[in-house]
Amino acid sequence: MFSKVLIANRGEIALRVIRACQELGIQTVAVHSTADSDAMHVRMADESICIGPPSGALSYLNIPAIISACEITGAEAVHPGYGFLSENAQFVQVLEDHGIKFIGPTAEHIRIMGDKITAKDTMRKLGVPCVPGSEGGVDTLEEAYTVSDDMGFPVIVKATAGGGGRGMKLAKTRDDLEDAFHNARSEAKAAFGNDEVYIEKYLTLPRHIEVQVFGDGKGRAVHLGERDCSLQRRHQKVFEEAPGPCITPEMRARIGKTCSDAVADINYAGAGTIEFLYENDEFYFIEMNTRLQVEHPVTEAIFGVDLVKQQIRVASGEEMTFVQDELSIKGHAIEVRINAEKLPNFSPCPGTITHFHAPGGLGVRMDSALYAGYKIPPYYDSLIAKLIVTGTSRQAALARLHRALGELIVDGVDTTIPLFHDLLQEPDIQTGDYDIHWLEKWLEEQN
Ligand code: ADP
Repeated sequence: MFSKVLIANRGEIALRVIRACQELGIQTVAVHSTADSDAMHVRMADESICIGPPSGALSYLNIPAIISACEITGAEAVHPGYGFLSENAQFVQVLEDHGIKFIGPTAEHIRIMGDKITAKDTMRKLGVPCVPGSEGGVDTLEEAYTVSDDMGFPVIVKATAGGGGRGMKLAKTRDDLEDAFHNARSEAKAAFGNDEVYIEKYLTLPRHIEVQVFGDGKGRAVHLGERDCSLQRRHQKVFEEAPGPCITPEMRARIGKTCSDAVADINYAGAGTIEFLYENDEFYFIEMNTRLQVEHPVTEAIFGVDLVKQQIRVASGEEMTFVQDELSIKGHAIEVRINAEKLPNFSPCPGTITHFHAPGGLGVRMDSALYAGYKIPPYYDSLIAKLIVTGTSRQAALARLHRALGELIVDGVDTTIPLFHDLLQEPDIQTGDYDIHWLEKWLEEQN
C-alpha cells in the first residue's frame, strides 16, 4: 500500500479522497492555488503545497507544478478526483515517466474513451449496444446530409473530444443541420482544440442511465448497477439516484454483465462509468468516463462499498475485494447537487458563507468543503455540496431528502437548494416518471 498520496484536486472531491486515505492509514498531500489557501482540503491534508495562481489552467491543470509537488513531498501516487486532470492521458504518461502511480486507468484507456468516436467503435466491437449514427467522424456538410438523411431527423452533431455538454448541437430538421454542423465544430474547436464531429440519431424521450464498473486491470471486472441521471439542465446532471426507478433486476443483470465483460476484456483498471441513453427498454451507449463520477456516492450507498478505497487498493497493486456475487443492492439513494448559483438563471454566485449547518441523522451523507466564514472563490466550478440520502425504499429516500434539505443551512450566497424543495413537490419526481428533458421543460414552465 502507498504511504503517501497527493490529491490533484480541490473542493468536496479532494475531501472525499483525503478521507479514504486517512482510513487506509495513508499520508495525504493537498495541492492548491493561491485562491484556495484557506480551503478545507488544505486544512484536512497532512501537508499542502501551493501550485500556482487562481486560474485552474495555471494551478490544478499545471502538470509540471504537480509533478514537482510530488517530488518535494515524496508522494508515491496521485488521485485526480474528477474534472481537472482526471481524464488527461498525457498527465498519466508524465506521472509514469516520473515513477509516480496514477490512481486510475492506463493512459491508453483514457485516450481511447476520451475520443468518443474511438470509444463508440471500441464498445461496439465489445458487444455494447450503441446509439445509431455515423461510422466515425463526419468531415463535410455533404457527408452530414447523407448520414442524417439515411438515419432520419432529428439528429445530434457531437464533438468527438466533447465533455460537459459542449460541442453538441441538435438538428431537429434538415434545415437545422448546416448550423448545427458548423456550430458544433466551432464550439469544439474553441473548447477542445479539436473540431472533429460525428452524428447520432437524436433520441427524443430517453432516460440517462449509467452503469458503474470496476476492473482490476488484469481481466477481472464487476458492475455495481446503474444510476439514473436523467434530471439535467444543459446536459449537466443535478439530481441522481440509484437504483434507476425504471430498471428491473433482470435488465440490470443483463446490461451490467455486458458492461463488466467489456471492461474485463480490455483489462480496465479501477472505477469507470459506461453511460447510456435508455428508451423503449433498450440501452444505447453514448460514452465512457474513465474516472470517479461526481455521483458515485449513490452507488456506494446502496452497495455499501467505498469506491475510492478500492481505487487506491487496485492502483497500489493489491487485489480488488469486489466479487460480483457478493454485490447486492440495499435500499435506494438520491444525490442532489448544491451549487452556488442564483435561481432562476443559475448564474454563478461566489461569496462568503456566513452560516453553514449540515444535515445529519440516519441515512444522510453530506460531501462538502464548506465551512462558516469560507469564501467561495469565483474561479472554479459552482458545486459546493452534495447531499446524499439513503432509505429502505425510493419513497423513504425522498422523505429523507425532504427532511435533510429542511435541516441544511447555507447562508451568505444563493444556492440551488430551493430548486430541490420545489422538485420534491412534483408528482413526476415522486413517482420517478421523468426523462432527460423533464427538468428543462419544468424550468421553462416555472419562469
Ligand atoms: P458530454 O460528454 O458532453 O457530457 P454525452 O455524450 O455524455 O456528452 O451526453 C450528455 C447528455 O446529452 C446526455 O445525458 C443526453 O442528455 C444528451 N445526449 C447526448 N447524446 C444524445 C442523443 N443521441 N440523443 C439525445 N440526447 C443525447
